[in-house]
Amino acid sequence: MPRKKNYVFDHVNLQFMQHRRKGSEKLLRFALWFSLSIGATFLYSLVFQKFFNSPKEEVLQQQVEELRLRYTLLEKHIDGSSSALADMRSSDNTSYRAVLDMPLIAADISEGGAGGTNRTADMTGYMNSDLMIRVRSKFDDLRTQTNIQYNSFTEVTARADEWKEMWAHLPYIRPVNVTMGLGDGMKFREKHPVLGSPRWHFGQDFRCPVGTEVHATGAGIVAYAGNDHDGYGIKVVIDHGYGYRTIYGHLSEFNVRRGQKVTRGDFIGLSGNTGTSTGPHLHYQIDLFGSHVNPLWYFQDNLTEDEYFLMLDYLSKP
Ligand SMILES: [Zn+2]
Repeated sequence: MPRKKNYVFDHVNLQFMQHRRKGSEKLLRFALWFSLSIGATFLYSLVFQKFFNSPKEEVLQQQVEELRLRYTLLEKHIDGSSSALADMRSSDNTSYRAVLDMPLIAADISEGGAGGTNRTADMTGYMNSDLMIRVRSKFDDLRTQTNIQYNSFTEVTARADEWKEMWAHLPYIRPVNVTMGLGDGMKFREKHPVLGSPRWHFGQDFRCPVGTEVHATGAGIVAYAGNDHDGYGIKVVIDHGYGYRTIYGHLSEFNVRRGQKVTRGDFIGLSGNTGTSTGPHLHYQIDLFGSHVNPLWYFQDNLTEDEYFLMLDYLSKP
């Protein structure tokens, strides 16, 4: 490519003459051109940076946005779990603790606890610090509540097992078939049918023919079986634990021995008319820590005969 030449008009010779630049002039023009280029480049990059990101910045920006979305999603999950846990605590209180006679868990116990600014100190100063600190705090709270609920259910399970054991031992059924009518209950007798003197009747009598099967009314250990001539005639005494003892009096036979373990519904003897008794009947007595309690409070008396035997069948199965 031919080099570009500059010409100037020579007024003396009236013609165009080729113009040759001096070295200093060339240098000056180059310096001017160079600084203008630098300035333009600087201005361009300034404007570009203000309105557009670099590819690397674009990638980082996307990652930050994705993390923010993930944190937001995580927060929703934690909120959902906290809400489910609150429902669980509510049924724990109303369905289990209330029934098992245990103290209720207060809401403020599970909402207090782990927190504190130390745990979130390293989360300050970021673009989404508020979100990160909030999620961390909610997670800590959820963890505390979960531990409290876990411990509560462990307690409830242990308590339910205790109750199941206790329920099996307490004297909760009739000792004889439901078709046997009720005789005298717990009351003050002006005149004892045999002794003639006034005294309390500390049990519930059942009118039943001699030879009617008598059943243990709860699990326990036979404390006595025999006749020690104290008015009860042949009697069986069962110690159920928890302060309870049951006495079955005026029997004709006993079918258990002292120290034997029995469960509810076990056949322990036959009714009779022994001791101070004026006719065939079963005297049934419940003592609680040495005091007499009314047996009628302890069993449902609205079963049919079929239901009663169905219950005994059920109880006799291992
Ligand atoms: Zn009696």
